[in-house]
Amino acid sequence: MYIKTKKDLEKRLVLKVDERKWSEDMPHLPILISDHIFSLIDPDDPDDPIRRQFVPSCLEEEDNVGDMDPLEEVRNEKAKRFIHTYENRAVLLMTDRCFSYCRHCFRRRFTGTEIGEVRDEELEEIGAYIKEHSEIKEILLSGGDMFTISNKRIDQILSFLKARRDDIILRLCTRALVSEPKRFDDELFSVLRKNQKGAPYFLMTQFNHPREITAKSIGIINKFIDIGIIPFNQSVLLKGVNDSADVQVELAEKLLLNRIKPYYLFQGDLVKGTIHLRVDVKKGLEIEKEMRKRLSGLAMPAYTMDLPQGGGKVIMTYNYYIGEDEDGYKIESPFGGKRDYPK
Ligand SMILES: *Cc1c(COP(=O)(O)O)cnc(C)c1O
Ligand code: SF4
Repeated sequence: MYIKTKKDLEKRLVLKVDERKWSEDMPHLPILISDHIFSLIDPDDPDDPIRRQFVPSCLEEEDNVGDMDPLEEVRNEKAKRFIHTYENRAVLLMTDRCFSYCRHCFRRRFTGTEIGEVRDEELEEIGAYIKEHSEIKEILLSGGDMFTISNKRIDQILSFLKARRDDIILRLCTRALVSEPKRFDDELFSVLRKNQKGAPYFLMTQFNHPREITAKSIGIINKFIDIGIIPFNQSVLLKGVNDSADVQVELAEKLLLNRIKPYYLFQGDLVKGTIHLRVDVKKGLEIEKEMRKRLSGLAMPAYTMDLPQGGGKVIMTYNYYIGEDEDGYKIESPFGGKRDYPK
């Protein structure tokens, strides 16, 4: 049984003070925890890293810094549910629903709000927009989680998009490999195969902790790769969940071993209600530097911040470049000392 209310939660876990104080009356992201997610939580560990991502806390209410829409997605919504911020790529908000709601969700203005799935009229408008905007080369099918939508409807949406523009790369963005692995039935893979024409699909997963990578999720990854869909992982740096180089290195190595390329490690967005999960940027940069020392280039994700007030994504990394003089450029070596590179 899914956990949907605080009562459900109290029956299954001994709540900590801040969890007990969380009030359902506040207008915020609802509780939703799937059985699979619950099975990943160690009920005897009050600080369990999976629990922190899904069990709400009253600290969410104490966030006076965050904003409801820090990426200014509403301003960049060029057709309903269609966010076109960067020239060559856009986001389609397929649905507001997920199999479990993450307390760090950066799209809280939209997620779990009962807006529902993308409708035919909205698709028509998006179809017309992408026909007019030939600069769009990629669309992120996001939400919410697109795989909460039925196979039949996914089939309709994908064939609609492919009929309008089959040269656009489609990114399948989902956390369902972590929250609801049983969703990935054979019929879904037939639907994907049927709609594989033109530009490729990529799978964008969100594994935030090594324990989220299970035999079930690896099985699904293998099925995607079998039909030629390459997986990339986007994780979020979260306080008390994965804010150490040790956990990040373990996560990245496990992802790569299972053929998932670590793509982004996001600094938590400045979203209202997520203050208790945000990691200080300086600490994030230290973790990044340590990761880069210990991980191969293939295993290393880009530590990235989506700037507040819709400022866009920037990669945050230790700066080895020192400066220049008449002899050339000075660059610090990761092995110690510095080197000159001539002009
Ligand atoms: C992150 C993001 C993208 C994709 O950016 P990449 O750097 O290509 O992964 C596209 N549109 C919006 C609005 C985004 O926030
Ligand atoms: S799965 Fe994604 S959209 Fe859904 S709650 Fe988690 S972060 Fe938000």
